[in-house]
Amino acid sequence: MKKHNFNAGPSILPREVIEKTAQAVLDFENDGLSLLEISHRAKNFQPIVDEAVALFKEILNIPEGYSVIFLGGGASLEFCMIPFNFLEKKAAYVNTGVWAKKAMKEAKAFGEVVEVASSANDNFTWVPKVGKDYQIPADADYLHITSNNTIYGTELLSDIDSPIPVIADMSSDIFSHPIDVSKYGMIYGGAQKNLAPAGVTFVIVKDELLGKVTRHIPTMLDYKTHIDNGSMFNTPPVLPIYAALQTLKWLKAQGGVKEMEKKNIAKADLLYNAIDSSKMFVGTAKKEDRSRMNICFVMKDEYKDLEADFIKFATSKGMIGIKGHRLVGGFRASCYNALPIESVQALIDCMNEFEKANLK
Ligand SMILES: *Cc1c(COP(=O)(O)O)cnc(C)c1O
Repeated sequence: MKKHNFNAGPSILPREVIEKTAQAVLDFENDGLSLLEISHRAKNFQPIVDEAVALFKEILNIPEGYSVIFLGGGASLEFCMIPFNFLEKKAAYVNTGVWAKKAMKEAKAFGEVVEVASSANDNFTWVPKVGKDYQIPADADYLHITSNNTIYGTELLSDIDSPIPVIADMSSDIFSHPIDVSKYGMIYGGAQKNLAPAGVTFVIVKDELLGKVTRHIPTMLDYKTHIDNGSMFNTPPVLPIYAALQTLKWLKAQGGVKEMEKKNIAKADLLYNAIDSSKMFVGTAKKEDRSRMNICFVMKDEYKDLEADFIKFATSKGMIGIKGHRLVGGFRASCYNALPIESVQALIDCMNEFEKANLK
């Protein structure tokens, strides 16, 4: 049976990325060795990193003055590296859920942390907006945001104009639509949602912001170390970087982030329309802040006791990973770049069939 992969992360990757990576594991560049057993300093691996960085810059239209580096540790390590490298006195954080809170928690060890806005009282079903819901404190060292809230299915789709550097966790919506990188001080994320298998973290950082804090930064936690050594200070996650390069090539061949945005809008519209016209299902996020990447919905109160049955039914039809996060409940369909619109349609067919059979 065909499987439709709606996993939230690690998640679906383009088939050709998996095939090319598998081939490199068997025989890297017809060299008779596996990608898993070569040195990261091998002369045929350096071009992999260089090309990945170049494609990152090309696809996201990254201006001069920014570095792209690949690290280990996941987005979660960035939660601590960010204040280590940038927080001198005070930092501003927008609280849009679990990941934002984790980022904030780490920063508190380094200085004053101001929670400038929060949607906690509404279980993070919406995203606070600058001007309307909060002002950016001009005396803070940076403003931290989470552009896509993977658990709650909310997303901030516009870049922020800010007097201070904006640092964005884009773990789950990088490369899903065009962004204006010049409006950010740093963009980062774990690769396992839209780019590569788990194990590599991408960081796009504005060089001029580095080297300003007075504290001593341990070598491995200093962004400068990794920039100066081209992500090769120590052994980088070779396999995920190789896979990331294949995804970047795929992205470029597909027409880049503009084309991704078109496809992601089409997929999200299709599913949200089905949810909105259903008598049984209802979306959880406020309409204006709905994520295109993680589409969260539940059953209306009178059908709540059917949620487990629907999961069983959908699973029997090949739907994978549609159970919602426990903090939201219900269902979550993650529709990352690699997910074809046919999978969204298959899920809708499932919903319709189940609704027809169970409507009171
Ligand atoms: C998954 C996720 C994280 C955590 O990433 P790790 O790489 O597992 O540390 C952080 N932020 C967001 C928005 C995520 O979706």
